[in-house]
Amino acid sequence: MKKLIYLDNAATTRTAPEVVEAMLPYFTEHYGNPSSVYSLAGESKKAVAKAREIIAGALGAAAEEIYFTAGGSEADNWALKAAAESYKSKGNHIITTKIEHHAVLHTCEWLERNGFEVTYLNVDEQGRVRLEELKKAIRPTTILISIMFANNEIGTIEPIREIGEIAHEHGILFHTDAVQAFGQVPIHVDAYHIDMLSSSGHKLNGPKGIGFLYIRKGLKLRSLIHGGAQERKRRAGTENVPGIVGYGAAVARAVRTMEERTVRERELRDYLIDRVLKEIPYTRLNGHRTDRLPNNANFSFQFIEGESLLIMLDMEGICGSSGSACTSGSLDPSHVLLAIGLPHEIAHGSLRLTLNEENTKEELDFVIEQLKKIVERLRSMSPLYEDFTRRQ
Ligand SMILES: *Cc1c(COP(=O)(O)O)cnc(C)c1O
Repeated sequence: MKKLIYLDNAATTRTAPEVVEAMLPYFTEHYGNPSSVYSLAGESKKAVAKAREIIAGALGAAAEEIYFTAGGSEADNWALKAAAESYKSKGNHIITTKIEHHAVLHTCEWLERNGFEVTYLNVDEQGRVRLEELKKAIRPTTILISIMFANNEIGTIEPIREIGEIAHEHGILFHTDAVQAFGQVPIHVDAYHIDMLSSSGHKLNGPKGIGFLYIRKGLKLRSLIHGGAQERKRRAGTENVPGIVGYGAAVARAVRTMEERTVRERELRDYLIDRVLKEIPYTRLNGHRTDRLPNNANFSFQFIEGESLLIMLDMEGICGSSGSACTSGSLDPSHVLLAIGLPHEIAHGSLRLTLNEENTKEELDFVIEQLKKIVERLRSMSPLYEDFTRRQ
């Protein structure tokens, strides 16, 4: 079998061995329900408390401001719907961007159908929010600004501190979807004026199906799930103890390795970007050149179809992702690539490669050689490319 080269870490990551190891005893030995009174349950309760502390510590937050959810999408939904509902006596206007994850965008669309008004900010060609546009969008009725920390497709990191400052100067709540950024860049909820923050375990080498919403103390946010008293009565249901323990271990690992890991990823990323741009003609890099996630590269190759590219890469054992929104079963190109101004036909020829620290230069050399061959082959079959070369 061909060696697998996994370059889709923005979609999900491999659960780190130390994370799996930390989780196992909470399936086998310490299986007690944290709400029970005997000492078996005490082990579970302690482990959940410890994970909460680790996670809060990584954000400069207090442990009681961390609310575990079943993932990033759930945290985004809760933040937006509950903030809208809880603060609607102050106004009905929400500001977000055109490049958010669908967990935010589709929630905003649902809120629009339920009496709220939403402004979807444009971004610049690098995918950054323009602060002047944000200021202009603010109305007396604005109750919430939700802007992602870093984009999952093009990797661009938003000016979160400045956005938070603007929100707080105007007395507006600020939520950020930090699913891609947490564990990749340092985050401090006070320094960045963040009121709510979403995160997900499986994007940082933790397990799937666990996430959290940070909710600043004092914020009146309605419960997500009614039932037992778990998560300080805001999200009922017996805790996902192994998931929470794994999440805590993943965050501890991410914090411990952040510096070394991201230096390595940046080096590999830049090597990949430089060679692809230099060696494959009619290619562009999407997203900001420097203010981008350490592990993200996103290219558009003119005259080809991202889908075909992915299939041919897969035949070589290479996992990547394309912006052509195949996952949603639609043929529309990615909303993010359109928002940064790419024409449809160029957005269709996009490829996202997201690294981890285990990738090697040798792997990337192989990927680049394959890419060169595949792009050439696909172009040779493209009537558009034929037309184009004839006109040269
Ligand atoms: C993956 C992702 C989500 C969704 O997280 P899940 O845990 O898969 O629900 C939300 N926002 C961003 C930016 C993501 O990358």
